[in-house]
Amino acid sequence: MYDVIITGAGPAGTTAGYLLARKGLSVLLLDKKNFPRKKACAGGITPKAMALFPFDISCLVRRTCREVKIIRPGNTSFMIKTKDPLCYVTKRMNLDAYSLEKAVQAGCRFKKTDRIIRLDQDDHGVSLTLSYDGKTDIVRAGHLIGADGANSKVRRLIGAQSSRIIKLPALEADVPVKNAGHYPMTFDFSRDIRGYYWIFPRKSHVNIGIFSARPNGTMNRALLKTYAQDRLKTDILTDVKGYPIATSCGKVHLGTGRVLLAGDAAGLAEPLLGEGIYSALKSGILSARAIEHAVGRKASAPENALDRYRQALGGVALDLRFYRCCASILYRFPKWSLAVGSCNILHDCFSRGYSRGKTLHEIFMLF
Ligand SMILES: Cc1cc2nc3c(=O)[nH]c(=O)nc-3n(C[C@H](O)[C@H](O)[C@H](O)COP(=O)(O)OP(=O)(O)OC[C@H]3O[C@@H](n4cnc5c(N)ncnc54)[C@H](O)[C@@H]3O)c2cc1C
Repeated sequence: MYDVIITGAGPAGTTAGYLLARKGLSVLLLDKKNFPRKKACAGGITPKAMALFPFDISCLVRRTCREVKIIRPGNTSFMIKTKDPLCYVTKRMNLDAYSLEKAVQAGCRFKKTDRIIRLDQDDHGVSLTLSYDGKTDIVRAGHLIGADGANSKVRRLIGAQSSRIIKLPALEADVPVKNAGHYPMTFDFSRDIRGYYWIFPRKSHVNIGIFSARPNGTMNRALLKTYAQDRLKTDILTDVKGYPIATSCGKVHLGTGRVLLAGDAAGLAEPLLGEGIYSALKSGILSARAIEHAVGRKASAPENALDRYRQALGGVALDLRFYRCCASILYRFPKWSLAVGSCNILHDCFSRGYSRGKTLHEIFMLF
């Protein structure tokens, strides 16, 4: 019997595992993949996300961006420049392998599982029936953190309403170009896709991608190829990967009983630009703290970890509402929203807030 089982070794799962194991709890961390593994993600880490990593990841940063180019409908553009970093570019495959290594060093036990078959819970704990290497096994713990991403099996097994989750498609590819480092980090809203294209510079190539703010938005390799041809004058794409980004409509479902959902499994990514690493880290930290607190309480005064977690995550849920509101304005009226956004005072205020690690509602509070 473990204190905690965590499904999913992405940023939410490894952060929670690392913190719990450091506090001396016994943790089983499960993933359906062996690491290092490929992961569809541009690897952009905002300063507010960077500040949340419980260990130093500076060795994984391939580029620190202090300027961002925004392309508006009509192909006009403006630059946002700051003294402080706006984004750190990493490679997710390396970031996740490194984070898992840290969690294991802290004391987590890692196990690859092929399938989660069944989840049962009672007043004292949670049992997971798993299959791996053709065998079936049952593992049990006091609490379970479901951090198994946008298509979370744990979320389905606890019957959390999937109608509350919105999955937004995103597709990315690497493009080998000369002088990759000379390209500015770019968010391109010039095409009529209810979303945006991005160009993130790395060392020997650039990473390009499409994010759709519509759950059923069109997304395919041909679109990315045409984009690369137009903007980078090449149609050589390598490592094309797509995956949904899970956000929520209305109330966020954070779990039931002794099961807590974190990161994309809870639909916590923001729907404006699709940033999900920040909320994965934040919910990983808060779910770990809530469980640590509940486990530390005396049997005479037991505490419900899920209630504590819900309360602690209130700020993230509020932020999600702001992002949702901004996304619906931006993608319905991109021309006008970005005309307003190109005003120096406004984007100075946003970029300063972002580079100082503020969340969207904290930036709004400054106005
Ligand atoms: C193309 C693309 C680009 C993106 N770019 C950015 C970006 O630049 N910056 C940013 O902040 N966000 C970005 N995101 C969003 C970000 O990747 C996610 O929001 C973030 O990874 C969520 O973290 P997580 O820990 O909740 O889940 P994940 O990182 O998805 O990790 C879930 C883990 O669970 C495992 N798993 C899944 N099912 C099971 C199962 N049944 N059993 C066991 N394990 C399982 C998976 O193998 C995976 O390791 C992007 C997403 C996409 C698709």
